[in-house]
Amino acid sequence: MKTYVQNQVKPFRMIGNIYYVGTDKFSCHMIDTGEGLILIDTGAEENAPMIVDSLSQLGYDVADVKYIVHSHGHFDHSHATAEIVRLSGAKTWLHKDDVQYLKGLFVPDHYTEHGDVLTLGNTRIEFIHAPGHTLGTVAFFFDVEENGVTYRAGMFGGAGVNQLKKGFLRRYGLSYFLRDMFFKTLEMLKNYQVDVPLGNHPYHTHTLKKAALAETAETNPFIDPQWWAPFMDKLGAKLREVLKEEAKEKFVNYAHRGASQYAPENTIMAFDLGLSMGANGIETDIQLTKDGVPVLFHDNTLARMTGKEGSVADYTYEELRWFWVEKGILRDRIPTLQAFLERYADKDITFALELKTPGTYKAVADAVRSFGIRLKTVVTSFNYEELLALRAYAPELSAGYLTKTTDEEILENMRRDGIDELCPKAEEITAEKVDAWHEMGFNVRAWGVADTALMERAYTAGVNGMTVNFPDELTALTKEN
Ligand SMILES: [Zn+2]
Repeated sequence: MKTYVQNQVKPFRMIGNIYYVGTDKFSCHMIDTGEGLILIDTGAEENAPMIVDSLSQLGYDVADVKYIVHSHGHFDHSHATAEIVRLSGAKTWLHKDDVQYLKGLFVPDHYTEHGDVLTLGNTRIEFIHAPGHTLGTVAFFFDVEENGVTYRAGMFGGAGVNQLKKGFLRRYGLSYFLRDMFFKTLEMLKNYQVDVPLGNHPYHTHTLKKAALAETAETNPFIDPQWWAPFMDKLGAKLREVLKEEAKEKFVNYAHRGASQYAPENTIMAFDLGLSMGANGIETDIQLTKDGVPVLFHDNTLARMTGKEGSVADYTYEELRWFWVEKGILRDRIPTLQAFLERYADKDITFALELKTPGTYKAVADAVRSFGIRLKTVVTSFNYEELLALRAYAPELSAGYLTKTTDEEILENMRRDGIDELCPKAEEITAEKVDAWHEMGFNVRAWGVADTALMERAYTAGVNGMTVNFPDELTALTKEN
């Protein structure tokens, strides 16, 4: 599905030996090194003939393209490359972490690495790994000369922040930690001096506006030495804004064990009630019966909720299914995970599935896979080892760590292990901490929301969701705001 319209623009020389042969949407820069041409990015598949035509309008032959280097692997920068390679035999460079985006259209001749240098004719391009927009995004820097003066040209190959939105990341199975990389990349790139900024989309650097100005301006408008560092700050502010908006727009009101304030916890009755109260998420706990059936039950022992002796693991499902779970005069049965998902998997809600006993991860991951609910499920646990086992078994699932403390070591371990949802205790939450956690790349979900005052505080601090026993109160709060 195409979601863009693009138009070929009249190709032009920007400065020195740098030319623009892209469209009004996707950049393609050409450098005439004197010993052949280098293209920086190409475009979507249909851009190939436009690039060939633009080159010829400028008096160049596509056959003279010697190298095509890519800022990153997204289709709008790389998919025209295959055709240009067919016409020119050019060598292609791309960071190996972005090969997945090529859809097999071509195989890069060289995997770009941090610190690589490409020299051809009068041009020497330096490559800096600049991950965030994608894992394999790079930045380019090289000298360009005009009227006897040398300028530094530079391109940050992945300035777009929309690809760091939750929906996009989840859809493509990408980690929230790309956000952290993006912020770090911005800080690193700020230290570079760039006189001639190049945009990998023309709107990033007002390329076409500058081209129009260039026709009458006395100084070359592409020389813009004050632009680079403030642009990095702007991108950081933009992503922070996106993270804030997202926490509000995609906020998840999780009925904690269902609407457990009002109905027997972890029963269909409680879940149904929670949804009727406006919850857009259900949190529940999974344990295995003696015969290995995953059922929804919180406590280590059966006593509090059922009045029975022992624990879930002491009974077969056939025995357990006849126990009542009670709250006041209300009672219901212990549901299986299977029955739970048969009832709710198709609903437009988020699931937080907590692994209660060691070894539960397999049954839960299998269920998430077979119901196809990966995009709207987070598997959580207080047990870090269990989460590691889950990550090893089903790395495509989002994992959340329920923790009573959030010291630096815990956060570092989580990042190392790819556990990208942080579930801190509500009492610990402040707006400053939430901002910092978001910048580190965590999705933040509060637990232990004991009363409405804590609920309001956590919500105002900007968390992405929280579990509450009283989803009706949380619904009222989110409607107000
Ligand atoms: Zn992109």
